[in-house]
Amino acid sequence: MNEYIAGLNTLPTNRVIKSMIKYAKNNKIPIVNDEGLTMILLLVDIVKPKRFLEIGTAIGYCVINIALRDPVVKIDTIERNPALCERAVDYIAAANLSERVNVHCADALELDPDLLAADYDMIFIDAAKAQYINYFEKYKEKLAPGGLILTDNLLFHGLVGKSKTIASRDLKHLTEKIDKFNRWLSRNKEFQTRFFAIGDGFAVSRRIEK
Ligand code: SAH
Ligand code: MG
Repeated sequence: MNEYIAGLNTLPTNRVIKSMIKYAKNNKIPIVNDEGLTMILLLVDIVKPKRFLEIGTAIGYCVINIALRDPVVKIDTIERNPALCERAVDYIAAANLSERVNVHCADALELDPDLLAADYDMIFIDAAKAQYINYFEKYKEKLAPGGLILTDNLLFHGLVGKSKTIASRDLKHLTEKIDKFNRWLSRNKEFQTRFFAIGDGFAVSRRIEK
């Protein structure tokens, strides 16, 4: 993010947030960056979601920020890595948010959707990038009328759209998958989506009402 602009924005901060940022940095956990988080918090301020669903918790950084910003939102978040899940649960407890932030330790593509609420005003997709179409198709069923689906990392460190220049086969494959999702989403007839080159590439989708 432009440092001058970053200095003008204020994000939630406390002891828990600071220690999470340090932990994420030391352990290379890909938490949402300041610019992406600023966008999410702006949308939370406007939408005032009663329920928020996140796919891909990592250590709970994004959801703790949201719960600190909005004092009433109820959050469900799904994480498949048991060690990260445990970390997230501990940080959420340390931030006194256990009553409003619920971590589901499961693979989002396997989780029984009946374990979740029926209607989320915002859904944030931020798990394995190669599976984005699958998460989108599964969890759009959980979107409340007028709700938003947010997707992160559509540029994947600026590499999406530049796959010809990438030497690593796995990385090339991954960026092509993300590109495929981006195109699929932009052509999707059920949702209207706006794409932004902020954070690591970010999209906001709203279901087209019939
Ligand atoms: N949203 C977090 C960062 C998430 S990083 C934040 O901004 O603070 C992506 C996480 O998604 C990783 O922890 C990874 O383990 C998890 N993940 C990947 N695929 C998943 C799946 N199918 N189901 C649940 N979690 C998944
Ligand atoms: Mg992300």
